[in-house]
Amino acid sequence: MFQKILIANRGEIALRVLRACKELGIQTVVVHSTADSDAMHVRLADESVCIGPPPSRESYLNIHQIVAACEITGADAVHPGYGFLSENAKFADILAAHNITFIGPSGDHIRIMGDKIEAKRTAKRLGIPVVPGSDGAITEEKEAKRVAAEIGYPVIIKASAGGGGRGMKVARTEADLEVALQTAKSEAGAAFGDDAVYIEKYLEKPRHIELQVFGDGSGHGVHFGERDCSLQRRHQKVWEEANSPALNAEERARIGGICAKAIADLGYSGAGTIEFLYENGEFYFIEMNTRLQVEHPVTEAITGIDLVHEQIRVASGGGLSIRQEDIKFNGHAIECRINAEDPRTFTPSPGTITHFHTPGGLGIRVDSGVYSGYRIPPYYDSLIGKLIVHGRNRVECMMRLRRALDEFVVDGIKTTLPLFRDLVGNPDIANGDYDIHWLEKYLAKED
Ligand code: ADP
Repeated sequence: MFQKILIANRGEIALRVLRACKELGIQTVVVHSTADSDAMHVRLADESVCIGPPPSRESYLNIHQIVAACEITGADAVHPGYGFLSENAKFADILAAHNITFIGPSGDHIRIMGDKIEAKRTAKRLGIPVVPGSDGAITEEKEAKRVAAEIGYPVIIKASAGGGGRGMKVARTEADLEVALQTAKSEAGAAFGDDAVYIEKYLEKPRHIELQVFGDGSGHGVHFGERDCSLQRRHQKVWEEANSPALNAEERARIGGICAKAIADLGYSGAGTIEFLYENGEFYFIEMNTRLQVEHPVTEAITGIDLVHEQIRVASGGGLSIRQEDIKFNGHAIECRINAEDPRTFTPSPGTITHFHTPGGLGIRVDSGVYSGYRIPPYYDSLIGKLIVHGRNRVECMMRLRRALDEFVVDGIKTTLPLFRDLVGNPDIANGDYDIHWLEKYLAKED
């Protein structure tokens, strides 16, 4: 087991990982920018190292500073959290070259999945169902027209290097295709420095369903069921559930089995998420994330398994603590992402939190790095906390969520809490009857 882990992240996820390390008796080091000296995880860590000024590229994305912090403090492993360097293959390779363990998959696996065209090709080879579309990158309009005619309109053009929902364009008819192709290419080039794009069938009413998987790096793979993340705004998840209100146990076991086998065949190590669109009973792979996800606590709530403990165990060579047959799904869980944003316009609302009171009681978990008097720096993303609620079934979970939202107090800044208070009373949400476009339509109606 590791002696000392360096946490290369900030906010609620840094605290989340720190808690897991403390439970396992591992010493913790956190790195932080000058904007985060007062952060909760900095206060709670055994050691902290200031690695630079507020802009992420000079601090949280500064590989040299982070490696230097490992060497100064003698950390033998790094947990990257999510975002920042968590899916940076070069970072994983550099750590390996310094004999520091990256708590995550190999640089090569990160590289494959970071290139969406390559990821899709790999998924297909491993027997995972994919969205019908082009086999590789599309450069010529003629080729785009041929593929689109074959799979049928509407189609979506997506950036191979894409992420965060950027660089996607829908073409409903052949007449739209040329503009969509050119805009997607130039947007991808500008945003990611790589203008490779590909085409796939645009699904009109899918749900976003993702499978939590784990590999032990020596040919074993397990799945932890799915999360339904269909409630999205601008392709960003807002509310997540486990299990999905749309799947039955048989479908779960089938798609879970396919994913676990794929992970085993790939020789994958650590936590991963295989993301699908789900429509009319069919799954279509869209991408794989090679890290811990923001929404992992809903899976922890229904399985009772600490996924960060498992990540640390696997990375240290200790293997998984569980087998597939030990993973049982108990009840229902929902996570609400609480952002420091205006609940209608979603414009960021940094500032000082004058009062912060979190709900408690059975089935309630709040993962947050903020506190009363904390000043939210304007440099980073606006997630200030996550409310995770667990119940014996979805009805109980929703009742408890409504109560918890009533108790939650965040004063001094605007947050997305009022949006969740509205959603919890909505009949479609109560029935679990929504797809990936539901929230956008709902917000447009409310305006
Ligand atoms: P990113 O890495 O940018 O998040 P994804 O491939 O994961 O990109 O897609 C993000 C979101 O975009 C999906 O959750 C879904 O809402 C939408 N999307 C992606 N591909 C399709 C598709 N083929 N049809 C319909 N919607 C899609």
